[in-house]
Amino acid sequence: MLKGKTALVTGSTSGIGLGMAMALARQGANVMLNGFGDVETARAEVSRLGTRVSYHGADMSKAIEIEAMVRACEAEFGSLDILVNNAGIQHVAKVEDFPVDRWDAIIAINLTSAFHTTRLALPGMKRRNWGRVLNIASVHGLVASAEKSAYVAAKHGIVGFTKTVALEAATTGVTVNAICPGWVLTPLVQKQVDARAAQAGISNDDAKRQLLAEKQPSLQFTTPEQLADLAVFLCSPAADNIRGVAWNVDGGWVAQ
Ligand code: NAD
Repeated sequence: MLKGKTALVTGSTSGIGLGMAMALARQGANVMLNGFGDVETARAEVSRLGTRVSYHGADMSKAIEIEAMVRACEAEFGSLDILVNNAGIQHVAKVEDFPVDRWDAIIAINLTSAFHTTRLALPGMKRRNWGRVLNIASVHGLVASAEKSAYVAAKHGIVGFTKTVALEAATTGVTVNAICPGWVLTPLVQKQVDARAAQAGISNDDAKRQLLAEKQPSLQFTTPEQLADLAVFLCSPAADNIRGVAWNVDGGWVAQ
């Protein structure tokens, strides 16, 4: 379905981003990966799917590196058609204890980076009259949890940003939408499970059960594959007129 298209997925060396990159590659899209950590394993996993795969190590907190990445993607593949703004970090602390550098990093990586990638990718998408911008927000773009002020502010911000850009592109073939996952068991959440287990002196499995029971009525983690299948749907012609939505995949979290 996506043969001939190029996807740039930020933060795709792990978790949800890697799932998105694999699903888009399975549909035939060329993929540019980005992110830190085990780059080679991610690259090998996506390359196995038979499309062209590239990697750029831009730090998503740095505008100049983001611009270099977008330009490199366009130069290497000839276009950037599907932009998945996924890179994100978390820090948990009460607002009066929140480290200033963590606040700045969360706003830069989880919110401002999407402004930069979008402003740079949009002109080419509009010229070709086809594009997809998928912002990986969170249920925390719709509702709050205590001790996550920076994350909740950034995610509410990206939901608002999604709606604005969707309106600006509404008469073109470029759609802009957000996906809002609840708990997904990735390294980002495993850290919170570990912290809970250590603090309460309980097992990892009990910490997972507690985490789910507090917020996610299905008592099941959403998987990166489920989110990636939604992304593929949002890239399909059936989704041509879906614009500016914040689509939660959260086991009932925000229905409460
Ligand atoms: P993860 O920790 O598995 O992956 C995060 C990715 O971002 C990694 O590839 C990492 O290298 C990359 N990254 C981090 N800082 C970066 C930087 N400065 N520059 C470039 N890349 C950077 O986390 P995940 O759970 O897969 O999270 C992906 C996105 O999904 C995030 O935006 C997160 O907020 C969102 N999300 C996650 C959950 C969840 O339950 N896991 C729920 C809702 C939303």
